[in-house]
Amino acid sequence: MVITTWRADASPTFFLDTKSTRNTPAYLPISSNNNGLKVSYHNNEDVSRYHFGTRHPMKPFRLMLTDHLVLGYGLHEKMDFYKTRPATEEEILQFHSEDYIDFLQRVTPENKNEFEGVWSKFNIGDDCPIFDGIYDYCSIYAGGSLDASRKLIAGQSDIAINWSGGLHHAKKFEASGFCYVNDIVLGILNLLRYHPRVLYIDIDLHHGDGVQEAFYSTDRVMTLSFHKYNGEFFPGTGNFEEIGTGLGTHHSLNVPLRDGIDDFSYIQLFRSIVDPVINTYRPTAIVLQCGADSLGCDRLGCFNLNIRAHGECVRFVKSFGLPMMVVGGGGYTPRNVSRAWAYETSVLLDVELDPTLPAEIPFLNYFGPDFNLHPNLAGKVDNRNTRKYLEGVRARVLEQLRYLNGAPSVQMQVAPPDIEGFLEEEEERLQEEHESRNDVRNEWETKDRARTGELYA
Ligand SMILES: [Zn+2]
Repeated sequence: MVITTWRADASPTFFLDTKSTRNTPAYLPISSNNNGLKVSYHNNEDVSRYHFGTRHPMKPFRLMLTDHLVLGYGLHEKMDFYKTRPATEEEILQFHSEDYIDFLQRVTPENKNEFEGVWSKFNIGDDCPIFDGIYDYCSIYAGGSLDASRKLIAGQSDIAINWSGGLHHAKKFEASGFCYVNDIVLGILNLLRYHPRVLYIDIDLHHGDGVQEAFYSTDRVMTLSFHKYNGEFFPGTGNFEEIGTGLGTHHSLNVPLRDGIDDFSYIQLFRSIVDPVINTYRPTAIVLQCGADSLGCDRLGCFNLNIRAHGECVRFVKSFGLPMMVVGGGGYTPRNVSRAWAYETSVLLDVELDPTLPAEIPFLNYFGPDFNLHPNLAGKVDNRNTRKYLEGVRARVLEQLRYLNGAPSVQMQVAPPDIEGFLEEEEERLQEEHESRNDVRNEWETKDRARTGELYA
C-alpha cells in the first residue's frame, strides 16, 4: 500500500515505506520558529471517557478524535504536551459556591432522586443531566484550563491550549447549557493574579453568558462574544444593551448575529471589531473560546462557517502576539469539531497541514467519505445577516469603545488588586442574579410542568 504523505520535498519517484511515513510529520512550517512563540497543549485523555447519555448532543469523545488528529499530524512534536491533573476542590471554589460543588461531588445516577429537591436550584435536567463521574469530568477539564493559565503566568508558554475547556455557560451557583464548572472563569481569575487586563473573546454559536456574568462589574476583564441572538435562542442573552455595570460598564461587548452568517462576513466583522478592541483596551492576556458549534453543519448550529474561517479568527487573535489561552466549547458534530480544533492547533503552531487526513489514525472512518481536513460546511442555511445589518452591529459594538479612555485603572506596573477582595464584591451581585433566575425558573416550572426540556448548548 502506498501511503500518501505530504512533504515539501516530495518527489513523485520516491515512495516512502510505512515506517518512514510514520516518522514524517505531515505539516509544513510556515515560519521557521513560529516567531519564537512557545505553544503548549494541556490534555488529560480521561476527559473523553464520560458520557452525558445516548441522546445528549454533548459528546466528550470529540476530544479523543481531536487528540488523534493532533497526534496523527505529528503536531505534538512542535509543542509542549502536558498531561494535566484534575482541579482541586479548593481551586473550583475560587468561583463556584460550596453547596453547588458539594452537590456535584455527591450526586450520582443511582442516588439522584434523593436530591430532587435541589435539581431546580442547580438547574439539573435534560440539558444538564446527572451522569456517572460528573464531578470528576468537571475537575479534569477545569484542571486543563488552570494548568494552561499557570504556564502562561510562569512564562513557560505564550499560547496554551485546552480543547476540553471552554464551558462558558456554567454559573457560580448552577449548571447551564451542558456546562457545570466554568473553567474559563477559573482560568481568568488565575490570570488576573498577574495580568492587569484580560480580554475574553468567544466565537461559540452561543452567547458566553457565564463568563460575561462573572466579570460584569469589573474593568479588569473585557468580554467580547460573537453569537446567534434573537431573544429566544439559548441562553437568551447577548444583545447590545448588555454592556456591564459599575466599573465594568462598557466592558461587556456583544455581537448579536442572525442565522446563516458566511465566512467572508464573519471574518470581516471579527477583524473589524477585534482590532480596535485590542488596541483600545490593551489587554495583557487574551482568552479565546473556540466553540465549534458556529461551524456550518453543526448538529445544533445555524451558521455557515467553514473550518478555515473559524481558524482565521484564531490566526487573527494570535497575530497580536499577546499571551493567549485557547479553549474549546460547544460543537456537536464530533467529526467537524475535531477537524476544526486540530486545524486551529496548526494555526497556533504556524504550520500548514496536508488537507488529506493522516491515514493511520484510530477512528479514521469517522471522517469519511472525504477524509479531508476541510469539508465544505457552507451554504446549508440562508444568510439572514444583510450587509446593512452587520454594519449596524459593528457600529453599535464599537460605540462602547468610545467610552473607554485608553486602558482602565490597573496599569502594568501596579500590582493587581487582591483577588479575594474582588471576589467578595462580586459575590453579592452574582447571588442576586442567581436568585432572580431561580424565581423565574420556579414560576415557569409551576406554569408548565408538562413541558419537556429542550436541548441547548
Ligand atoms: Zn455553544
